[in-house]
Amino acid sequence: MDFRDSPEEAAFRERLRGWLTEQKGRFPTSGDEYWARQGEWHQALYQAGFFGTSWPKKYGGQDLPPVYDVIVDEEIAKAGAPARPSLGYLVVGLSHHGNEELRQRFLPGMINGTERWCQGFSEPGAGSDLASLTTTATLDPDTGEYVIHGHKIWTSYSDIADWCLLLARTDKDVPKHKGISAFIVNMHQPGIEQRPLKMISGVTREFGQVLFDGARVPAENMVGEPGEGWKLAMTVVSHEREPSTLGFSARYGKLVRQLAARVDGPPPGELAWAWVQTEMLRLHVRRRLSEQLDGLTHGPQGSLDKLLMTWVEQSVGHAALATVGTRDEELFGAYMYSRAQSVMGGTSQIQKNIIASRILGLGV
Ligand SMILES: Cc1cc2nc3c(=O)[nH]c(=O)nc-3n(C[C@H](O)[C@H](O)[C@H](O)COP(=O)(O)OP(=O)(O)OC[C@H]3O[C@@H](n4cnc5c(N)ncnc54)[C@H](O)[C@@H]3O)c2cc1C
Repeated sequence: MDFRDSPEEAAFRERLRGWLTEQKGRFPTSGDEYWARQGEWHQALYQAGFFGTSWPKKYGGQDLPPVYDVIVDEEIAKAGAPARPSLGYLVVGLSHHGNEELRQRFLPGMINGTERWCQGFSEPGAGSDLASLTTTATLDPDTGEYVIHGHKIWTSYSDIADWCLLLARTDKDVPKHKGISAFIVNMHQPGIEQRPLKMISGVTREFGQVLFDGARVPAENMVGEPGEGWKLAMTVVSHEREPSTLGFSARYGKLVRQLAARVDGPPPGELAWAWVQTEMLRLHVRRRLSEQLDGLTHGPQGSLDKLLMTWVEQSVGHAALATVGTRDEELFGAYMYSRAQSVMGGTSQIQKNIIASRILGLGV
């Protein structure tokens, strides 16, 4: 394995560094301000040629290998710029399960950031046990539209979303995971109520509850066939669980270095441990990336990645607490946010169940 940049990668990195220097201070990196302007940041990255690089050209990407995404994440972290918006799992979900018409209509706007998206899967009574979801979509034969009733929760970016990739029950008479369909729902219509949720980090813009009461979606916006929503959900969550294409390891490394710079005297043990774990994750991500370049896909092993990523993020969070306590808002915010990592995208207990049953074959 040779991890050094090729001449093309080095030129891309150089161009990106120059661009990031020009952007310094233009975009907020945390808090409500980050979320309020995330769309602008997304579009700025895209227009400069630094977003969606590994996605297909015909939908607005550049068909470059995934290593370019990692270069973007590394340089963003080094420059202290806002994180790259993470929506690869939605792109993959729509690419794998949508027909060509839906892909051509929706992927370009999703990738270039002119249309914003949210993921409407979880409900108050259906998180880990997603197949129990009770939101319904019923076909109105007079209009050819489905009518939606139900309650989604923890829906990231719901308040700014133009579109929602929604799971809803279309058939109550079949085993529960076979009666779910996926839809692309327009969020700007009557019959949708938004209720923002405040996070323990103080952020109020990141996610919310969404209540559907008679909202409508044309039948042609169904992704896949009726009853195929579960397959799409599995594609989306398994991609949500892979750190290899996300900027996490670079971001954790940056936080650890920031903390080390704040230490006066012997460093707390938590910081040393976070440093070791961050380096371990960095190397693990490189291995995954190298496997991806060789054409390997990971399936349930994404659960191992998610678990590792959670351990590292929470170790870095503990190191922040031990090093600066509540004295630094941003670093304390990193600790607070790390608590969510073992819940979002499937809890740690669920990842352990998947590892036990699908990788170790323990018959859970
Ligand atoms: C920051 C953040 C962003 C999110 N964004 C989105 C989003 O955009 N869209 C979306 O749809 N959802 C989103 N979620 C929701 C997330 O997917 C769910 O919170 C998660 O799947 C857990 O579901 P739950 O909250 O209902 O907890 P529950 O499923 O009720 O779990 C409660 C506890 O029981 C444990 N548990 C449950 N079942 C088992 C089992 N079988 N074995 C062992 N332990 C078990 C869990 O591990 C957990 O500790 C987000 C969550 C967070 C925190």
